[in-house]
Amino acid sequence: MTIVTDNQAPARPGAHQPGESLVEIRRVRKSFGNHQVLRDVSLAVPAGTVTVLLGPSGSGKSTLLRCVNHLETIDGGRIIVDGELIGYRQAGAKTHEMTPRQIAKQRRSIGMVFQKFNLFPHLTALENVCEAPIGVVRRSKSQARARAIELLDRVGLADFAGHYPAQLSGGQQQRVAIARALAMDPKLMLFDEPTSALDPELVGDVLDVMRELAREGMTMIVVTHEIGFARGVADQVVFMDGGVVVEAGTPEDVLGNPQRQRTRNFLESVK
Ligand code: ADP
Ligand code: MG
Repeated sequence: MTIVTDNQAPARPGAHQPGESLVEIRRVRKSFGNHQVLRDVSLAVPAGTVTVLLGPSGSGKSTLLRCVNHLETIDGGRIIVDGELIGYRQAGAKTHEMTPRQIAKQRRSIGMVFQKFNLFPHLTALENVCEAPIGVVRRSKSQARARAIELLDRVGLADFAGHYPAQLSGGQQQRVAIARALAMDPKLMLFDEPTSALDPELVGDVLDVMRELAREGMTMIVVTHEIGFARGVADQVVFMDGGVVVEAGTPEDVLGNPQRQRTRNFLESVK
């Protein structure tokens, strides 16, 4: 199994030139059994930019996101986030899989928001946001609470800190989930169809929060069928089908002037 396809040293962690990639996905392959789901996918996401991933169901979008934080192990290629190889460490010419502890540590710097919000039902909004900072990185309770209140305010839920998930709308729960991810101070946020489980009238508030995050310079990879969001917020739109990147470019290019028939068919279908 080849994980590192060449020996170029990763960039120094933490240091970014404008336009430099925060995420580099290079020739990533992934199969489930003998079904190859990702076939040599390459993609670069500059720091502080938003990439929207589009594609029909089954095209490999979720799998790709899951590979970025090592929820799936890749079969080939490599993924680098902020200068660090994901899931593997290099010792000289050799590459070893990280220990579960190292993987967990690496994953903490990557926030992920799912279609289903996965909040803890027995914890309030505030407690959901505090849970990882207190339980995982041992921040003090008072510090974690103060930060959680700030984050709930940022997603428009300052007045709902004491509510349990069942007392919140789907859109509010999703905004709590975003606040919870932000509580770990991620350098990258991954969103997997964050609004597709929501009633249409609740979608806007969630997209507004994401828009605001983008404006503040968060690096984001977003799987969504919200073409309006892609058009307004994305720096890069990537269309995937059958485990390959069919077309990638600016929203103007990919959405406004798609070069490939498959892209045109898909855009027609989500109108
Ligand atoms: P998308 O998010 O674009 O709809 P996915 O990445 O979820 O696509 O899935 C791509 C393909 O991989 C699908 O055919 C799906 O059935 C398959 N797949 C995803 N996860 C698994 C898994 N854990 N085991 C087996 N097959 C999987
Ligand atoms: Mg998916």
